[in-house]
Amino acid sequence: MDEILTSDRRSVRAHSDPSIFVSWQQAMKQAIRDGRELCNRLDLPPELASDAAGNAFPVFVPLEFLARMKKGDPDDPLLRQVLGLSAETESAAGFQTDPLAEKDSEPLPGLLHKYHGRALLVTTGACAIHCRYCFRRHFPYAQVPKGKEAWQGAIDYLAQDPSISEVLLSGGDPLTLADSMLGSLVDSLTAIPHIRRLRFHTRLPIAIPQRITSDLITRLRSTSATIWFVVHCNHAAELDEPTLAALERLIDAGIPVLNQAVLLKGVNDSVAALAELSMRLVDHRIQPYYLHQLDRVSGAAHFEVPAETGMDLVEQLRKQLPGYAVPQYVQEIAGDTSKRPF
Ligand SMILES: *Cc1c(COP(=O)(O)O)cnc(C)c1O
Ligand code: SF4
Repeated sequence: MDEILTSDRRSVRAHSDPSIFVSWQQAMKQAIRDGRELCNRLDLPPELASDAAGNAFPVFVPLEFLARMKKGDPDDPLLRQVLGLSAETESAAGFQTDPLAEKDSEPLPGLLHKYHGRALLVTTGACAIHCRYCFRRHFPYAQVPKGKEAWQGAIDYLAQDPSISEVLLSGGDPLTLADSMLGSLVDSLTAIPHIRRLRFHTRLPIAIPQRITSDLITRLRSTSATIWFVVHCNHAAELDEPTLAALERLIDAGIPVLNQAVLLKGVNDSVAALAELSMRLVDHRIQPYYLHQLDRVSGAAHFEVPAETGMDLVEQLRKQLPGYAVPQYVQEIAGDTSKRPF
């Protein structure tokens, strides 16, 4: 415990990262798309990677994220999030392709309206990193409309419902869209008078921190709506210096940043790992928001932590951390009108 509480806020895992001078688009192109290649780069046996898992959901890991992993460690918590293992191909009771029954709450393809006052727009199917536990790993992204005209249906729907004051831009990852496309979407949404807040649900600042350019920030600052960011980071080692600098640029521009994490076996299922994550976040003005119980998506059973264990972990966190550093441990239940706290 002492060790956690005294951890140096600047102590980030050492890495040499020449790619930081690469544009984010270039970083997307350079990302590793093969499990064996990922293992090779980390001096691990290539057989660790499962071809079947990679075929079902392709591996996609930016070099910037790779640089934060420890070489020669098959249990590295960052590697575990992105390497397709043969465990994914085993079926498990209760794990399904659409665990949240999202198809039932889609008034239009790509628009989810489940909760009062908020609607979620699936802006794109693309992500800057592929997380093996992702509940949208089987989402029919090919059917998601993309581009100005395709979004018009959703924009009309939002314009006609004055109870909606906030739009969540999600995906996939909305920041994989080019600034021009994102800008025109933001303009269309903020032209609706009752849309007061736009919330970006994005892992890009973590996966490829150079995505947070000054152009993007200028663009976001110039909108009339209030912008919130919810990033997604599961382990303190993801928060290296370039990443913290990117988050700092957002916060310095007056954009609040929250973090959501998923409770994952072998990644962050210990008090020490969760406390260190929270500490590093709040040391850098980022507020831990949600700790999600894993959604039971097929292929992710080996990541599941029992809810009793999760509740115990959060109870212990509460004894160590300031109240604002303890995330809400929640579960998503199909048909519920909010996330359900444990
Ligand atoms: C999680 C989620 C939201 C946002 O919920 P908050 O509790 O406000 O963070 C909104 N819509 C959908 C469909 C969601 O899954
Ligand atoms: S970035 Fe988000 S949406 Fe994309 S694979 Fe990871 S968890 Fe899923």
